[in-house]
Amino acid sequence: MLQPFSYTCPKDTEEALVLLNNAGARPIAGGTDLVIQLRAKRLPSNPLVVDLSHLDELHFLAETENQLKLGPLLTHQELADSPQIQQGAPLLAQACRRVGTPQIRERGTLGGNIVHASPAADTLPPLLVHDAFFTLQSAYGTRSLAANSFFRAPYQTEISSAELLVQVSLQKLFGFGFGYQRLIRRQAVGIARLIVAGALLLEAGRIREARIACGAAAPTVFRAHQAESWLAGKKCGAEIFRKAGELVSAEMIERSGVRWSTPYKQPVLATLVKRALDQAAAIANG
Ligand SMILES: Cc1cc2nc3c(=O)[nH]c(=O)nc-3n(C[C@H](O)[C@H](O)[C@H](O)COP(=O)(O)OP(=O)(O)OC[C@H]3O[C@@H](n4cnc5c(N)ncnc54)[C@H](O)[C@@H]3O)c2cc1C
Repeated sequence: MLQPFSYTCPKDTEEALVLLNNAGARPIAGGTDLVIQLRAKRLPSNPLVVDLSHLDELHFLAETENQLKLGPLLTHQELADSPQIQQGAPLLAQACRRVGTPQIRERGTLGGNIVHASPAADTLPPLLVHDAFFTLQSAYGTRSLAANSFFRAPYQTEISSAELLVQVSLQKLFGFGFGYQRLIRRQAVGIARLIVAGALLLEAGRIREARIACGAAAPTVFRAHQAESWLAGKKCGAEIFRKAGELVSAEMIERSGVRWSTPYKQPVLATLVKRALDQAAAIANG
């Protein structure tokens, strides 16, 4: 049984934003996270569920010379299938391809994945690699926040209850090679235990720029800036990538402290980082 709730279906974003000014109002997109919260009776009493799913203005994919602009209602399946995403943000396409089941990929949206803010959400590491930023709109105005500073804690973000996520902007990365690694407990539907998204830009066999983002490794998704800086200028090679993996694992422990899972996650994360960088270097080398 779901907890009691009221439901409304606004005709456009403007009306949705007015409705979100009501205390207890919550947007719903695909509902694959929110309905579970309603079933677990985790929302405040009698919430007003504001249905966004039919708002065409939140469902778009546009491109400029340097950016991809994504509407929050794009589903995981649409992102995985899009030639523009496969070409411009292949890490995101790969991540979306691995979400849940075909039914979840058809219903679950990019915006819902971001705002739900699970530490293990699949789209978040690729978004951090692309220096994504989020456009948030309320009845009073619009603001932009970098993905890197959006996630406060597990399931907590900087968005206010009166705001909607209306656009996700990704920086295009020209000339980079990409690597993606995702660990799950079993070869079936499963929430990721660790995710690594990596990108390398090479110049004459040396690393000009490295980007590494990790999911499910700490309370929030993070960019491994220490390892990224350490890699800059170094020659590509197995030993360098192994050492970078160790640095990322150390960064995970700095962020999350030592937990019961640390003896397992520490070496496994290091290995996944090495594999992601191996893949990225192979692609960058053509
Ligand atoms: C069986 C199952 C398997 C799953 N597997 C995975 C998986 O492998 N990887 C993964 O990452 N996730 C997984 N999920 C979680 C879920 O499917 C995703 O997080 C999905 O992307 C959520 O999108 P949604 O549109 O369904 O969100 P909803 O449930 O509609 O909303 C989620 C949250 O976001 C808010 N919200 C939605 N859109 C907006 C917006 N535009 N502006 C402001 N707030 C908004 C809602 O109020 C709510 O708080 C799984 C879920 C299930 C049930």
